[in-house]
Amino acid sequence: MSVFKYIDRKSLRKILKLTSNLKEDRNVFSSYAKYAEHKELDHIRNIGISAHIDSGKTTLTERILFYTGRISEMHEVKGKDNVGATMDSMELERQRGITIQSAATYTLWKGYNINIIDTPGHVDFTVEVERALRVLDGAILVLCAVGGVQSQTLTVNRQMKRYSVPCIAFINKLDRMGANPVRVLSQIRSKLGHNAAFLQLPIGAESDTKGIVDLIERKALYFEGQHGEAVREDEVPQSMRAECEDRRQELIEHVSNADDVLGEMFLEEKTPSEADLKAAIRRACLRRSFTPVMVGTALKNKGVQPLLDGVVDYLPNPGEVQNVALREEEGKKQEKIILSPVRDGSTPFVALAFKLEAGRYGQLTYLRCYQGMLKKGDTIFNARTNKKVRIPRLVRLHANQMEDVSEVYAGDIFAVFGVDCASGDTFVLDPKLNLAMESIYVPDPVVSMSIKPVNSKDRDNFSKAVARFTKEDPTFRFHYDPDNKETIVSGMGELHLEIYAQRMQREYSCEVVLGKPKVSFRETLVKPCEFDYLHKKQSGGAGQYARVIGVLEPLPPEANTVLEFSDETKGTNVPKQFIPGVEKGFHQMAEKGLLSGHKIAGVKFRLFDGAHHIVDSSELAFMLAAQGAVKQVFENGVWQILEPIMSVEITAPEEFQGVIAGHISKRHGIVTGTDSQEGWFTIYAEVPLNEMFGYASELRSSTQGKGEFAMDYSRYSPCLPDVQEQLMQEYQESIGNVPQQKKRKN
Ligand code: GDP
Repeated sequence: MSVFKYIDRKSLRKILKLTSNLKEDRNVFSSYAKYAEHKELDHIRNIGISAHIDSGKTTLTERILFYTGRISEMHEVKGKDNVGATMDSMELERQRGITIQSAATYTLWKGYNINIIDTPGHVDFTVEVERALRVLDGAILVLCAVGGVQSQTLTVNRQMKRYSVPCIAFINKLDRMGANPVRVLSQIRSKLGHNAAFLQLPIGAESDTKGIVDLIERKALYFEGQHGEAVREDEVPQSMRAECEDRRQELIEHVSNADDVLGEMFLEEKTPSEADLKAAIRRACLRRSFTPVMVGTALKNKGVQPLLDGVVDYLPNPGEVQNVALREEEGKKQEKIILSPVRDGSTPFVALAFKLEAGRYGQLTYLRCYQGMLKKGDTIFNARTNKKVRIPRLVRLHANQMEDVSEVYAGDIFAVFGVDCASGDTFVLDPKLNLAMESIYVPDPVVSMSIKPVNSKDRDNFSKAVARFTKEDPTFRFHYDPDNKETIVSGMGELHLEIYAQRMQREYSCEVVLGKPKVSFRETLVKPCEFDYLHKKQSGGAGQYARVIGVLEPLPPEANTVLEFSDETKGTNVPKQFIPGVEKGFHQMAEKGLLSGHKIAGVKFRLFDGAHHIVDSSELAFMLAAQGAVKQVFENGVWQILEPIMSVEITAPEEFQGVIAGHISKRHGIVTGTDSQEGWFTIYAEVPLNEMFGYASELRSSTQGKGEFAMDYSRYSPCLPDVQEQLMQEYQESIGNVPQQKKRKN
């Protein structure tokens, strides 16, 4: 291997060319090629493939792996099964599961390294999705030529917008009856709000789809051979020439609107060359001001190779994306540090562990290197735990094989073995830098549900599933409620929890039932309230004596989900060894508020002073004193209930705008913006989560099934007085204090 490592690139290319028709050889050589090319940032693409379920994401990924030579089982399948030439579609379907299980798959396409990063199959807002999106630099948005833009497409689109991920749209399933790529393009413009245009057109329609026309180079492409692996170029069919010119002009106009250079050429009526046009598309796509639209049918093996060319031509390399790390030091403001994408050892190594996988190779941790380089045998630090780990082995994964590498650089995706960490951890070479890719701060779950396995024999699997999911996703939590004797899971939305329930069944054969969703309300203080509490018990035996003086005060709204404690005592009235007792007492009391029994949040316990007794004071006594102090503030302070507010995005045909605005105001939402395009409108609103249960069916029935909506957690905010009143009454009733004259509403 080391012999090849030093072959210069030019001769290597020559060898590759000579051997390109020998598949096996190509794989061998290309695997060395990347050693020689490992320093070229512009030859790397880290991409994700996102789609509404059933649009063909899995099929497309398989085809990509096949055409890039990553799965070459074709011969084996043929030999073993005797299906031979009669097989009309790739038999790879049956091998699904083993082929694309990896969290990141390494492939090579025309000398470019394309890492396909698995975006979680669900789209609710979770840290997991967020993490996957930041690991990738660009994406393919797969749409079904029949279904077009669907609800999850909207969510995925919004997440890509939030993390500024440039994308290519791929309209798949051209072969299906009712396929209408023109309609899908208009939905991409109207429902997703993209400035988009075709780069290709289909030749033939539905089951008669023969190939595609490349509008930029004005040529037809046909996908021949048993599995469409031989791409044949030809002239654009006579019957399509006029349409091809019209669509090409439309493409130029759309790109001109988004790119100054092309825009100027357009105004000066200059004809752009193919290279001008491609360069302009690339610039506009990277800025997310234009979305190239490509077409094909993954199942029928048409359009996949040009899509790969599109990934290389239009999606960014890691050097074209800015990545930041957070510098978090105690007592200091969080600072954003821009990381250097340079692929050498001149800057300190920083990497993010984005996925853990317990699989055939044992415990694997997938990482993305964001800065610097790492060599096999190096020792690195986990920035969260400060633990030191030695990395004896570095690997790259693809489909179902693994490959050892000796070093990795910024932009690379790789995996390590047996490293104990949680997903989301940052690894650095130098712990003194205090750098982390993800904030240590994780949002609190906003919804909880009771959960229980249907069959008690599945308890073991249930525990395994819970252990794994909670390790991977810090927003997914689990606890036992001793009051109601039930197990509770909490997360960022109803869908988030339902997805884990489904995964338990699918991946752990453990069917579970979920209870009704409950919103995680919080209680907080309206204004500061002082306390001065003396805890004293001095009758018989060892006594207890502790006094705490201070103030409990509300934190600013952006910190209304956290609890803070500050020891501001001077002198020795409260001896330092008892301070942890005070803090513990405060945290214990914060578990259950006075108004509704929900957790307390958004308050700061400031301890100013106190008193102790030389014999009778202890940590326990100070803990009890702190509890008494909080009880004092329960009585004297003004409290309110906070509720999670969701950002909601609803899209529907214009005639339903009034109806939908009505839904939002009925649900106490506030409209924060609207958009409208080509007969469709989008309303952006903020609505309390508590009011959103059951909205999917209301929207469906009032828009003839045409409306779509997506939502994710935004923040906590005080709830309306009548909601607060109702929660308080319900709580009083649940603890047995039924007010006589007050009846519950509804
Ligand atoms: P995913 O849920 O997005 O991963 O979608 P899959 O790849 O599992 O595909 C869902 C279904 O659509 C499967 O039955 C596929 O065989 C089928 N499918 C995928 N691509 C195409 C296509 O281009 N044409 C047709 N007709 N069916 C397709």
